[in-house]
Amino acid sequence: MLEKNDWRLTNQESSLIGAQLYLKKFISRSKDHEHCVFCLRKIMDDNSKDDLYREAYTTQDEQHWVCKYCFIDFKDMFKWK
Ligand SMILES: [Zn+2]
Repeated sequence: MLEKNDWRLTNQESSLIGAQLYLKKFISRSKDHEHCVFCLRKIMDDNSKDDLYREAYTTQDEQHWVCKYCFIDFKDMFKWK
């Protein structure tokens, strides 16, 4: 059962409420990896890893990344599209 006080929830995610998210393959530009904003799982451009690490949901500006697990867990709470 998902709780509002789930350990992954902090105030930094409040900007993601109602956000439009896109499933994208992470491509390294300035950084070689990002972290899921919820569980801090690494998202990286590394072909030796499976898609779970190479693809994630992100905002249009790619400032925030959400892994596939957290997307499923939190999509109703955050009303993602
Ligand atoms: Zn996550």
